[in-house]
Amino acid sequence: MKILTVEGVNKSFGGLKALNNVNFSVEQGAKHAIIGPNGAGKSTFLNCMIGRLAPDTGTVMFGDISLTGMKPYEINQVGVSRVFQTPEIFGDLTLLENVMIPSLAKRDGEYALHPFKRMEHDAEIRDKAMHMLEDVNLENKRDMTASSLSRGDKRRLELAMCLSQDPKLLLLDEPTAGMSRADTNKTIDLLKRIGDRGITKVVIEHDMHVVFSLADKVTVLAQGTIIAEGKPEDIKGDPRVQEAYLGG
Ligand code: ADP
Ligand code: MG
Repeated sequence: MKILTVEGVNKSFGGLKALNNVNFSVEQGAKHAIIGPNGAGKSTFLNCMIGRLAPDTGTVMFGDISLTGMKPYEINQVGVSRVFQTPEIFGDLTLLENVMIPSLAKRDGEYALHPFKRMEHDAEIRDKAMHMLEDVNLENKRDMTASSLSRGDKRRLELAMCLSQDPKLLLLDEPTAGMSRADTNKTIDLLKRIGDRGITKVVIEHDMHVVFSLADKVTVLAQGTIIAEGKPEDIKGDPRVQEAYLGG
């Protein structure tokens, strides 16, 4: 069964065609990677899927729900979460508060952030946030302000924020970008554990080591067009893919 179906998506920035008639789908439970050289349109594609950018044409379906035209928070509420290429965290707040906010937003929608003090007294949300911080091994830092974290820890915090929303589909834009090899391996282990919980994953990734340890299907995007799709081992040897990377 398809959990995500994208048809005929085009997106231009002025004269630049960033996405050219992209058709794409993801099976429920899949670990799907999107790879491609820098500037291929990967982040633009993710932003079109999660409502941050409006595609010029095309449709995005999550199961039988049309995401086209929905606001990002509405897309969140139906069960789609995302991790951006640059972590989006609340730098002045503690880790625990950071993880409580998206969980509140999922439950209470637009009114979630109203009275801040309510958050501290919300035992259900707080317990859940604690649990999520344990999941990403940040529980000991829960009272630190988020801005003091290392880059790797910030990315793990953002992941905990996404997981606190119990997503059915998680989209990640280069989750290991800028991380040390040790942090990358920790993140791969974490993402594998998430997969075991039945969350469908779409990972945008530049690092082949990450792609081959995480994905069971790979889509290759180059210059806004899908040029190949298949199992990781087939994609690895595909001359079109090698050419796109060398050319890019
Ligand atoms: P990738 O994530 O694969 O590296 P992007 O989706 O970030 O690629 O970018 C695809 C192309 O679109 C690039 O040429 C980039 O410069 C351009 N682009 C991306 N976002 C914008 C924007 N907001 N305005 C203008 N051009 C953009
Ligand atoms: Mg990108």
